[in-house]
Amino acid sequence: MASASLTVQSARDLVLQHCQRIVGKQAVETVALLESFQRVLAETVFLDYDQPPFARSMRDGFALRTEDVQSAPAQLRCVGEVRAGEMTETALRSGEAMQIMTGAPVPEGASAVVMVENTDRPSDGLVRVLKPVKVGENIAPKGSERRAGDAVLRPGRRISTLDAAVLASAGKAKVLVHRRPVVAILATGDELVAVETVPRAGQIRNSNSFSLYGQVLKSGGIPLMLDTARDNLPDLLRKIRQGLEADVLLVSGGVSMGKYDLVEPVFEELGVTVHFESVSMRPGKPTVFATWKDRWVFGLPGNPLSTFVAFELFARPVLRALQGLPAADLPVVRGLLQEDVVERSGRSAFLPARVSSGSGTLEISPVSWKGSADVFGAVESNGLLIVPSQAARLTKGETVEALLFEDLAYANRVLL
Ligand code: AMP
Ligand code: MG
Repeated sequence: MASASLTVQSARDLVLQHCQRIVGKQAVETVALLESFQRVLAETVFLDYDQPPFARSMRDGFALRTEDVQSAPAQLRCVGEVRAGEMTETALRSGEAMQIMTGAPVPEGASAVVMVENTDRPSDGLVRVLKPVKVGENIAPKGSERRAGDAVLRPGRRISTLDAAVLASAGKAKVLVHRRPVVAILATGDELVAVETVPRAGQIRNSNSFSLYGQVLKSGGIPLMLDTARDNLPDLLRKIRQGLEADVLLVSGGVSMGKYDLVEPVFEELGVTVHFESVSMRPGKPTVFATWKDRWVFGLPGNPLSTFVAFELFARPVLRALQGLPAADLPVVRGLLQEDVVERSGRSAFLPARVSSGSGTLEISPVSWKGSADVFGAVESNGLLIVPSQAARLTKGETVEALLFEDLAYANRVLL
C-alpha cells in the first residue's frame, strides 16, 4: 500500500485542485451584524445613500463665506448655530457666520468652516476670524466619500473591525456570510489518556486534539471534539464513521507503518478515497489526504509537531476554501538566518523557528527542538523555517523563508 511520497508542492497542488471544485458553491447563511465579525462576507454590499449625505462640517467652528475673511482678522455677525443631527433652513449672507459642530450640515451660502481655535468672540453676536480660510476648508462635500449605489464591500473578505463600521454605515443589520465548516477532531492511540489523567507507564496525554482545536478555530472552523479512538478496527470504524458526518474530519495518529496504524484500512473499508498518503517533508511525512462524498478527510501523523505542520500546510487551505476564502498559504516572510541549519532528511523541512523584527529586517532563529514529538521546544516558535529539499545546509546570515503561524509579537512574549 505504501505509494511514493509526493513533494510538498504537488501534494498542495492536489489539495488546491480539490478546493477549486467548490469555488462558488460554498454554503451561506444570514447572521446579525454583531455575529458577523471574523466571518467571510458572501455578498456585495451597496451603499443606500450618499456618504456623507449632506455637506458635513469636519470641525467645531464657524461656517462662513470665504470672501468675507480674505483679509483676516475679520469680524462677522454670528446669526445662529447648527448642531449635529439638525438641518438649518437659514442661508448665510455676506458678513455672516454660523456656529457649527463637527458632523453638522453646513448651511446654504457657506463655503468653508473656520475651526473654533482660529476665532475669538468679542461679544455674543460677533465672531472674529483670525486667519483667512480657503474655499471648502473643513467641509466634506455630499457624496465625497461614496455615492448611493456604490459597492463598498466585495464578497470573500473576512469581516474585520473596520468592515463592521462599513456594514453598519450601509445599514446592514443582517449580513450574508459563508457557513463555518464543522471540523471533527479524532485522536487515535491505545497509549492516549485524557488531560485530567496521570499517565501510567507507557501512556501519554492526548495533546494533538487541543492544538488542532485551536488551529481549527483560528482557521474559522467549528471544532467538534470526538472521543479518542483505540487502535482496533471496530472502535476506529465507529468513530471515523461518526467523524464523517462533519464537513471535515481530522484524524491524528495511526497513519504510519506500524502494525497498529489502522486508520487507512478503515478509510478503505468505508469507501474513503485516498488522494495521497505520504509527503516528502519533515515533520509530517505520513500525511493522508482523502475525500468521501463532499467530506474532506485528513490523516495527520501522530507526533504533535507533525500533526501541527500537516494541518497548517494541507488542512488549513481546505477550511479556508470551505468558507469562501482563497485557499492561500500562511504568510511567507523572508529574513536573515541567525544560525547554521543542517538538514539530513533529504525532504523539505519545516522547522519551528522564532521570527522577530531585527534592525530594519526580520531575523529567523530555529528554536532548540528535539524532534517532532517535542512541543516544549517548539512552543517558543511563531514560524516554520522552510528548508527546501535540495538544501542540506543553510548558513547563518543567509536570507531564508519562514511560514508565520503567529504574528511577530509572539517571538517576544513580553510584548503581549
Ligand atoms: P502514530 O502516528 O500513531 O504512530 O503516533 C506517533 C507518535 O505520536 C507516538 O509517539 C504517539 O504516542 C504520538 N501521538 C499520537 N497521537 C497523539 C496525541 N493525540 N497527542 C500526543 N501525542 C500523540
Ligand atoms: Mg498510534
